[in-house]
Amino acid sequence: MIIQSATYLISSPDYTKCPKADRPEYAFIGRSNVGKSSLINMLCDNQKLAKTSSAPGKTQLINHFDIKSYPQAHVGGSVKPDSWYLVDLPGYGFAKVSQSTRKQWEQMIENYLRKRENLISVFVLIDSRHNPQKLDLDFCDQLGKWEVPFCLAFTKADKETQKVVSKNVKDFLDAMRKTWQFLPQSFVTSAEKKMGRDKMLTFIEDCNKE
Ligand code: GDP
Repeated sequence: MIIQSATYLISSPDYTKCPKADRPEYAFIGRSNVGKSSLINMLCDNQKLAKTSSAPGKTQLINHFDIKSYPQAHVGGSVKPDSWYLVDLPGYGFAKVSQSTRKQWEQMIENYLRKRENLISVFVLIDSRHNPQKLDLDFCDQLGKWEVPFCLAFTKADKETQKVVSKNVKDFLDAMRKTWQFLPQSFVTSAEKKMGRDKMLTFIEDCNKE
């Protein structure tokens, strides 16, 4: 897939205020500091698109980006680009937020994930430097209970040796096997090295075709 343009559209306090659900949508979520903004910017080839290191817990909004793309096979001419939404969701796992802020976040996210009718897949971001974390595993289980399709994107793969990253990915998937019969698609990524970009964009392109 070739990204023709990626433009920030709107930030919404809940799913009813989101843009018209008239095209495929992919949402990105993960705990704070997992590398979500960096990954979004890397995928869209725009370093300023999602704000990196925005103040933890502050952005409790659903952020929509309008993406125009061409299939990899596109060779110019007057073909109309594909149009889809990329959504940056507020991260989970902030130690410092109050109980009421957390509850508000949970309700907003649950409503969005369960009710947004054009949502094709959620990318759950996992920091590849760490052992499986309960918070991430629980969030995946929750998505399963809600029947929300998702894949995993292991981030910051350049920060550890390949051996460590592979072990952490394997351990996470093994931990999932305890509750999951089928494992989700997973991607190993590095925003720094642009690793995983083609695979993730091809996945989105294939989903857009269906
Ligand atoms: P967010 O809070 O999940 O949006 O995380 P950010 O994208 O702001 O990244 C948090 C920190 O990790 C920043 O200092 C980034 O520069 C760094 N970071 C994110 N992705 C990568 C990566 O792939 N490789 C490296 N080396 N650092 C990264």
